[in-house]
Amino acid sequence: MLDPKEMLEGIRRWVEIETPTSAPGEVARLMRDVAAGFADLGAGIGWIEERDGRGPHLELRSPWGGDGPGILILSHLDTVHPLGTLADRLPFRIDGDRAYGPGIYDMKAGAFLAFAAFRELVREGRETPLPLRWLITADEEVGSPTSREVIRAAGDKARHVLVTEPARDGGKCVTARKGTARYAIHFTGRAAHSGARHADGRSAIREMARHVLELEAITDHAAEITTNVGLVSGGTAVNTVAETARLDLDVRFPSEEAMRCALAAVEERKAHDGDVDIRIEGGLSRPPYERSAATARLYEHARGLAAEIGFELGETRSGGGSDGNFLADRLPVLDGIGIDGDGAHTLHEHMLISSMVPHAMLIRRLMETLE
Ligand SMILES: [Zn+2]
Repeated sequence: MLDPKEMLEGIRRWVEIETPTSAPGEVARLMRDVAAGFADLGAGIGWIEERDGRGPHLELRSPWGGDGPGILILSHLDTVHPLGTLADRLPFRIDGDRAYGPGIYDMKAGAFLAFAAFRELVREGRETPLPLRWLITADEEVGSPTSREVIRAAGDKARHVLVTEPARDGGKCVTARKGTARYAIHFTGRAAHSGARHADGRSAIREMARHVLELEAITDHAAEITTNVGLVSGGTAVNTVAETARLDLDVRFPSEEAMRCALAAVEERKAHDGDVDIRIEGGLSRPPYERSAATARLYEHARGLAAEIGFELGETRSGGGSDGNFLADRLPVLDGIGIDGDGAHTLHEHMLISSMVPHAMLIRRLMETLE
């Protein structure tokens, strides 16, 4: 039987090694601890070394099942919380059914549930019909720049994908996510004294302002397409026509078709003022994760297992991306099967202790029944 006390202690251990994406040394320390736990259970271990200040990532495989297609469990252990958050603003603490800590909900506890499910199987001497493989990454919170190719490659040997991102809205899993794109758009005009030579100037800010309105107008809430100019900067002095300006844009879309329309509208941009130069940087960050028929079947299967365990597994869609987005175009992906709780990325981030055992049991039953 899954022991809640042992599980909570294990989660605490993972939470108390702080792992912001930008601290690969600390990430490596936690990953070594995680790898040791898996190795004790007979799992095979593989490392993807740190690169560009991100990582390392960890690959694990069950001692059974061979080399054929299997179940891929995707987790990330990086968090958005800076080092020192644990000592200061968000220490590990328990308050009733809630356990608090940096990254506990997104998603250290969820990743731990998959480990606990595997540990339970090993302790009982059971094997699963398909081999189990984990990919535990360390740069999800910054868009997975060094892990995305590894994730795609891991998909080549997968038949089903389980993502241990947090459950939400009362324990619902996730069966669709928007795709995301990010851009920085740079404008270069011509500087001039705003009093003596105003007519000679070409304002980069004025040009940018028109693009801000046009870019935001691509938003279509009914079609679930959003464009958000979240940052702007430009100019050097109030009495100088601005030579340069920059805007940063976040774009979200629910489908491939919406993606093509929205990205084309951004990328085909031309200057209104021929004397101002525009340079567009960036592009697709994560493709959309659409609810395919295969994903719907996987969800229905999980819902049946949850009912046997004694809870109702709802489903929802999310405006935020995850690493599941990289595989959902070709594999069934069940996301958000991690821990329930709230406050991801905030100082009230917490998990619900009562969701620990049922969700670990669900993961275990998925491992045991997927073929
Ligand atoms: Zn996450």
